[in-house]
Amino acid sequence: MSFTEEITILTDQLHWLTKDQAWHYRVLPKAKSNHSFLLYCEESADQNVLSSELEILLNSEIKLAPIPAESIARLLSKYYIKDNVIQGSAQLSLHHDADNFLTNLIQEAKNLKSSDIHIESYENKCRVRIRIDGMMVERYLLKKDEYPALINKIKILSNLDIAEKRLPQDGRINFKYNDQQFDIRVSILPTLYAEKVVLRLLNNDATEIDLNSLGFSEFDLDNYLEGVKKPNGILLISGPTGSGKTTTLYATLKLLNKETRNILTIEDPPEYTLEGINQVQLKESIGLSFEMALRTFLRQDPDVIMVGEIRDINTANMAIRAALTGHIVLSTIHTNSAWGTVSRLIDMGIPPFMVASTLNTTVAQRLVRLLCPHCKRKQEFNEQAYPKQFKPFAKVDDHYMPKGCDQCYHTGYKGRKAVYEVIPIDQQLAFEIKNGNMYVQELLNERGIQTLAQNAFQLFYDGLTSIEEIFPLLLNY
Ligand SMILES: [Zn+2]
Repeated sequence: MSFTEEITILTDQLHWLTKDQAWHYRVLPKAKSNHSFLLYCEESADQNVLSSELEILLNSEIKLAPIPAESIARLLSKYYIKDNVIQGSAQLSLHHDADNFLTNLIQEAKNLKSSDIHIESYENKCRVRIRIDGMMVERYLLKKDEYPALINKIKILSNLDIAEKRLPQDGRINFKYNDQQFDIRVSILPTLYAEKVVLRLLNNDATEIDLNSLGFSEFDLDNYLEGVKKPNGILLISGPTGSGKTTTLYATLKLLNKETRNILTIEDPPEYTLEGINQVQLKESIGLSFEMALRTFLRQDPDVIMVGEIRDINTANMAIRAALTGHIVLSTIHTNSAWGTVSRLIDMGIPPFMVASTLNTTVAQRLVRLLCPHCKRKQEFNEQAYPKQFKPFAKVDDHYMPKGCDQCYHTGYKGRKAVYEVIPIDQQLAFEIKNGNMYVQELLNERGIQTLAQNAFQLFYDGLTSIEEIFPLLLNY
C-alpha cells in the first residue's frame, strides 16, 4: 500500500515518454544510463513485447522494472494527467483573456462540485489544481509570463491591493453566472516564486442535500431523527475539518425549515444558502463573535439555532443557555469520537450536570471516497492489508481496488459518503455523565451503537470503497 508513495518521478524524467505512450504501455520512467532507459511496468506485462516496441519508439535500449498494476495506475494518474482532463492542451494560452479563463475556470470548478481552486507558481511552471472529493486534481498549466495577469484579475475582482505582493491578503468575490450567484473566498499567499491563490467556492444551494443520502445507516438515522424531533437540547457533530459536518447540519436545518419555526445561524463563512432561514456571517474584527451572535439570537425569539463551531467556553455556555431555555441548538465541535464530545465539553469548563441535562445527541463523522463504479477492480483480499491490531468484523474474501478511467479523472474514486457514529443521550447515559462516569462502552454496546470503524468497514465489505480509504478509521476502532 505504501509502495506507490515511495516512488517519486522527477519532472525532468517525465518527458522521456509522451502521455500517450505512458498510458498505452502502462509504463513510467525510473532511471537512465548512457544507452538505456529503465522503466516501471506492470508485473503482468509481457516484458519481451513491451521492451521491443518501446525500443523502437524511444530509440534506446529499454530495461523494465515490474511493479504491481495498481501502483502503475496510481502513478499514471498522478504524473501523466490525461488530455481529456486538461481540456485542449497542457499549455494554456491566456494572452488578453485572463477574464474569460477565470470565469470558465470558476464555472468548471462549480460544475465539478469542487470546493477549492489552487493557482500556484513554481520556478518554471504555473499550474491550476482543483479539489474534487477532497483530493487535488491538476487541471491546467499556465505560461509563467501569463501568471501575473491572472493574479491581478483576481485581486481586482476581490478588491485587493495589486501593488502588495509581499504580504498575505484575504478577499471575497461575488460571482454571478447564468442565474446563479455565489461567494468566493480569496486567500493570497506570497510564496518563493509568486503569489499563490486559493479560491474557496461558497454558498452552495442547500436545497439539493438530503439527510437520507448522506451516508447514515437506517439505525443511525432513526436515532438521529429522534434527537432532532425533541423540543430542545444540543445536537453536536464532531469530526476534523472537511469531514462534511456542515452538510449534515444543513440537511438537518432543511428538515426543520418550516414556516412555523424561526431559524438563525452564525457561521464563518456560511457554506450553504437556504431560503427561509436567517444566516449571519461571523465578523470577529468588529466584535461579532459566536458568543455575541448567540446572545442576540436569544432576543430574536428563536426556535432553532445553529452555531458554526463551539470552540471556547463562552460559546459553549451560550449554547447551553439556549438549550436550557427550550431551543434546539445545532453545532460542531473538534473531537475524535462521538463520546469524546462529552469530555471535551467538561474539559472546556461546563459542569457535568449541565452537559447531562442539555446534550441531546452526539455524532461523529468522516468522509470516505467511493470507488469509481466504472473502473474498480475485484481482487482476492489479503488480511495483511488491515492495520496490525485490527480484528475484522467479518470475513472478507474479495475486495475492490481503485484503477482510474475517464469517468473519475483517473483517480479511481468517484463521490464520497459520510460515515457516522450516532449516540443519543438517553436518561441512563445522562445519569452516567452527571456522575462523571466516562467509561460507558458497555452501555453503548447494549444499545447497538455502531462505531465509525464498524460503519466504514461496512462500506468496504459492500465493495463501495477500498481498504486504503478506511484504513485510518480502522486504526483506532
Ligand atoms: Zn473510473
